[in-house]
Amino acid sequence: MNHYDCIIIGGGHAGCEAALAAARQGLNTLLVTMDLKRIGQMSCNPAVGGTAKGHLVREIDALGGEMAKAIDHTGIQFRILNQSKGPAIWSSRAQADVELYKIYMQRVLAECPNLTLMEDTVKSLILKSLDKPLKDDQSMSRTHVIEGIETEKHDKVFSSKLIITTGTFLGGTIYIGQEKISSGRRGEKASLDLPKSLKALGFNMGRLKTGTTPRLDTNTIDYSSLERQDSDPNFIPFSLSTEKITQELIPCYLTHTTEETFNIIHNNMHLSPLYSGAIEGIGPRYCPSIEDKIVKFPHRKVHHIFLEPEGYNTPDIYPNGISTSLPLEIQKLFVQSIPGLEKAVILKPGYAVEYDYVQPTELHPTLETKRVQGLFLAGQINGTTGYEEAAAQGLMAGLNVANQSFQKDPFILSRHESYIGVLIDDLTTLGTKEPYRMFTSRAEHRLKLREDNTDDRLLHYGYEFGLISSPLYEKYRSKKSILDQYTHQIENQWLSVEKHNESLSQQGLPTIQHGVKLEAYLCRKEVSLKKLIDAGIINGEELTPRMQKSLEISIQYKGYIQREDSFVEKWDTLEKIWIPENMNYHAISGLSREVQEKLKKFSPSTLGQASRLSGITPAAITLLYSMIQRHGA
Ligand code: FAD
Repeated sequence: MNHYDCIIIGGGHAGCEAALAAARQGLNTLLVTMDLKRIGQMSCNPAVGGTAKGHLVREIDALGGEMAKAIDHTGIQFRILNQSKGPAIWSSRAQADVELYKIYMQRVLAECPNLTLMEDTVKSLILKSLDKPLKDDQSMSRTHVIEGIETEKHDKVFSSKLIITTGTFLGGTIYIGQEKISSGRRGEKASLDLPKSLKALGFNMGRLKTGTTPRLDTNTIDYSSLERQDSDPNFIPFSLSTEKITQELIPCYLTHTTEETFNIIHNNMHLSPLYSGAIEGIGPRYCPSIEDKIVKFPHRKVHHIFLEPEGYNTPDIYPNGISTSLPLEIQKLFVQSIPGLEKAVILKPGYAVEYDYVQPTELHPTLETKRVQGLFLAGQINGTTGYEEAAAQGLMAGLNVANQSFQKDPFILSRHESYIGVLIDDLTTLGTKEPYRMFTSRAEHRLKLREDNTDDRLLHYGYEFGLISSPLYEKYRSKKSILDQYTHQIENQWLSVEKHNESLSQQGLPTIQHGVKLEAYLCRKEVSLKKLIDAGIINGEELTPRMQKSLEISIQYKGYIQREDSFVEKWDTLEKIWIPENMNYHAISGLSREVQEKLKKFSPSTLGQASRLSGITPAAITLLYSMIQRHGA
């Protein structure tokens, strides 16, 4: 068979989610990837989640994606980060057994109906030119329609929908010291032909770089003096469909660089391709290599390193914090200057990889390219870094391909309902010049976008797509109705001196001088829902730990959340006003030339997106709005 409803190139985190979303929607889907055994491969750190990334994983789950289930099944350590800070930024992180994670993903893909897997390398795109570009602006006009792909082994395969998720492989070059190899990931070839197709179409492309740490042999590490870190006992599984994490959990250990490490790296900096000028691509600012840390923070001699096992049955340890592209001899020297690693053996060297990416302002918020109808891009190819960012985009591209195929409206999440919305809006509105990583600080409405309320925000979408099962959705609805009852009770119940002071003091809670509303009492610093349940003031029988957290936060932060809600309501109107694709900005006489050019260049999809472009004033938005009304949009 050489015709499919949808083709996905790449079996990484974006590709897996995209393929599952499209196939589960009923599209006859083909996933083409260079190596079937590497589907679901974690190229770098053996972990899923982290600050804001944990939010993304839970959002992927609520929309019906796979990543959360995969990590719940294959995690070897689970932690909640930022617990000393406010609930908006509590984030889940888990370390994975890298091999088991891959096996899990490969099994899910293999068992997915409507999905065919093909091992091959895509060389080029098959396109049809449009006689007449859809827009007056030649640089961003839709000039082509996608018709398929040409591969090395299977020749031509046809489809009117294509999602490219090629990660770090486009024009990939890896560096270890002075050694420079054409490669997408260590041991795998680069994709050299495909970027030519994209460049020929005029896509605005650039170079980025990322790097990884050497892997160490656990049998050669002395853990005796190192700080041990275990899982959090109260961890709530990532997926709403996981009842409990039942597998064995294992610890990781904490060590640090020393003055000697600093000196070794400092004295050999000229051998690092990062500083010898060999690498031009910009690296991830928030995940710097050890060379970058030493150059940028010369006063800090000590940097933490987490020794993270890559699984139950592998000797590989990932020393998180020392990503490097120095020559192997120097890697050995500096690794052995670290406490506990004096005799450590390097199993695989650290390296840097430089690759092509497409400037994501080339995309609509659906992740379809503006230039080629039916062509979608997702994952690292759009300038992001990280498995979670990639998976989120893959899922959204897969859902939008399905919606487009079934002539449904585009599926776009707003900034105030999800981190996925923030991610895609940032990318498609502002573009990126460095690897983009998600942070809680990127979201304006953090308090609304918590991990604990992901189901309230997004589960209904997953259910409407048919990707969330009826029993799971029913379970959510009954949970919601229980929580509503509890909220009502807490908002209306009063505590009285006579009736409650004794049980309050027995639990070590502050007593009251006169009647107080339970809601107000719960908002006091030293009070928690758990303590009120223990004091017998609230009957917690129906509340799971997940529900307790949600309820407590929604009561304690009610005022702030209401303020955010009213702000969002005002702005939401702009997000729902679509700008016609063929809008002629030069015909809006009140707009300055500069604003006209900017709008033409970025082709925003909605008034909300236009309002976030730098230099676009409220006055310009008003003019644009009246033009849209005249257009009949
Ligand atoms: P990938 O997971 O890279 O998958 C790409 C897929 O496309 C592969 O399956 C490949 O076989 C396939 N493919 C490519 N070209 C073709 C073709 N022409 N035909 C067929 N198939 C093709 N992220 C972080 O957050 N922090 C880090 O510190 C970090 N360090 C990294 C270090 C290294 C060395 C690498 C390689 C990656 C690193 N990453 C890091 C990035 C992380 O691995 C990616 O963000 C994530 O894997 C991207 O997912 P993806 O699905 O977009 O692409």
